Amino acid sequence: MVDAGVPLRRLESNLKSIGASPRDLGGIFLTHAHHDHVASYLIKKPFATRHGLNTYASTGTWRELLRRGCGELDHSACYRLEPSKTVQIGELFITAYAKQHDAAGAVCFELTDGEERLAVVTDLGCYTDQLLAALQGCHYYIFEANHDVQMEERSPRPWSLKQRVLGPQGHLSNEQAAKALTQLAGQAKGIWLAHLSEECNCPDLANRVISSTLQQAGLDVPVYNLPARTPSPFYGEDCRLEQLTLFERAEVENCSSATN
Ligand SMILES: [Zn+2]
Ligand SMILES: [Zn+2]
Repeated sequence: MVDAGVPLRRLESNLKSIGASPRDLGGIFLTHAHHDHVASYLIKKPFATRHGLNTYASTGTWRELLRRGCGELDHSACYRLEPSKTVQIGELFITAYAKQHDAAGAVCFELTDGEERLAVVTDLGCYTDQLLAALQGCHYYIFEANHDVQMEERSPRPWSLKQRVLGPQGHLSNEQAAKALTQLAGQAKGIWLAHLSEECNCPDLANRVISSTLQQAGLDVPVYNLPARTPSPFYGEDCRLEQLTLFERAEVENCSSATN
């Protein structure tokens, strides 16, 4: 699991709603220690401790997490994963890459089973050639399209927050995300837009900007939006949206195994 930014109970119920249990997780990979990524660590008994899970994070993220008041952790289950390093969990290889964001030790992740590659990239103020080179050619992207610049500028948010979001250590606009994805997604089978601002973006607008920019660049890749507060639907073969949710799927499987 990448990040654990929703409150503990919601995280547990979200997992249950897709037919998964915390025990199914091979570990938790933290991108950085902002509240919306580590909320379930900033409590007396964090999610990882409750369920005996390993946590992987950069030194900068660990320091910041402890400074912010991380709850009780089993130290033998806490691992350092520095930028440009890879760790293997089961059949998956997970690599951290440094990113530009206003949090110490912030990283994004690439996950691969040796055949297909998934990049998970949110909370990015700007991108470097180095990061683009590292993440080029993935098959799947979960990618930040945080805001529409005009909506951000016209929003009632404090000036300092607007400066932060729009700045090079803040978040990617729809246009910035579109431009990055045209350089990254030449081999991509699917793109999921994430970390959309509820105040300063519209899912339809973000999707339109990115889809049309990719099409103009000659890239025919399905682009989906991930919801901010609820589990997304299930995407199956060829990245098509499946009508069955994972929860229903789990029930169906339980039923058939019960009758077998
Ligand atoms: Zn965030
Ligand atoms: Zn952040």
